[in-house]
Amino acid sequence: MASRKLFLLPGDGIGVESMAEVKKIIAYMDKELGLDFECEEGLVGGAAYDAHGTAISEEDMKRALAADAVLFGAVGGPKWAKVPYEVRPEAGLLRLRKDLGLFANLRPAICYPSLASASSLKRELVDGLDILIVRELTGGVYFGEPKEIIDLGHGQKRAIDTQIYDTYEIDRIARVAFDLARTRKNKVTSLEKHNVMKTGILWNEVVTEVHDKDYKDVTLEHMLADSGGMQLVRAPKQFDVIVTDNLFGDIFSDIAAMLTGSLGMLPSASLGEEDKKTGKRHALYEPVHGSAPDIAGKGIANPIAMIASLAMCLRYSFLMGAEADRLEKAISAVLDDGVRTADIYSEGMKKVSTGEMGDAILQKFKTMVA
Ligand code: NAD
Repeated sequence: MASRKLFLLPGDGIGVESMAEVKKIIAYMDKELGLDFECEEGLVGGAAYDAHGTAISEEDMKRALAADAVLFGAVGGPKWAKVPYEVRPEAGLLRLRKDLGLFANLRPAICYPSLASASSLKRELVDGLDILIVRELTGGVYFGEPKEIIDLGHGQKRAIDTQIYDTYEIDRIARVAFDLARTRKNKVTSLEKHNVMKTGILWNEVVTEVHDKDYKDVTLEHMLADSGGMQLVRAPKQFDVIVTDNLFGDIFSDIAAMLTGSLGMLPSASLGEEDKKTGKRHALYEPVHGSAPDIAGKGIANPIAMIASLAMCLRYSFLMGAEADRLEKAISAVLDDGVRTADIYSEGMKKVSTGEMGDAILQKFKTMVA
């Protein structure tokens, strides 16, 4: 079988430190398990700016486009606060999202039992929580035109953002949500506001049509987004897959993140359109957190979000569900053993460095494979 092409972009700050732990796991899978990964590494963000004067070089963009999947660390930091806007570190990530056509953002909210007490909700509400938020990433109010501030005179201004969705944008994100639901608990909840928004009416119609035509076996539920938000903190375990637009998805995925405790634990995936001929799609996997300049270089960052992003990559880009399950179980088992980086530490637990956490997860993974 052809090798699996991974392109690694560690970026800046703790992106580099967390990616080092992922590299250990990939090296083990490659050499010891014979999974045949072909890894290349490039520069993005401030690191790319320092080397090339741009947030990502054309050469690295080509390598990202040629890869089966991109693993991305994090970008940014005070060192690059004054660089020109077009080449600021974040521009590298935006360019990747745009050129790879990453329209579907997947944010799981999984609550590991041994961390349930770190949630802002009661333990019984979040213990064992496993939901997936599928957010439309390239349309909606963040991109719609007109988008401007007009000076009306007399000390008054008018700010305009435009929420726009076309049928095809809703159709393709709904299909991603239904496909993923089939690999989980087979339920999709679609959130919009059809009571006050035209885009909500179209969203509701298109999701229903896609369901009735091709996904009758999946349970579909519609909820008004405000009510869905309330349910998300009242009884989050009622959800399996939530599909929603760019704005609501942005907000709800951050709320869902807090249900699970720490920023250092949260992976994400962004997927592009499926190539009808090869069945492949561009994909980028990254932790939700940033480059954490306040702790960068200290060896104390939690690498779990980055390692869990690798697990998502195995599952969605390489269809290696069994290995993804093992990696996620290894993370869970290490947490059950009381091993903690500083951000998730509580009294009586064993405090470890970034490298020690990565090693502990790899050791567990090895014993599970054997
Ligand atoms: P951040 O996510 O980097 O950090 C927020 C807080 O959480 C910090 O106190 C940090 O120490 C802590 N934290 C984050 N990840 C952690 C981990 N894995 N282990 C332990 N603690 C962790 O957000 P910020 O401070 O708002 O932003 C810092 C820089 O990162 C900025 O330049 C911002 O633009 C950039 N950023 C990049 C991305 C990305 O690359 N996708 C995302 C968000 C922010």
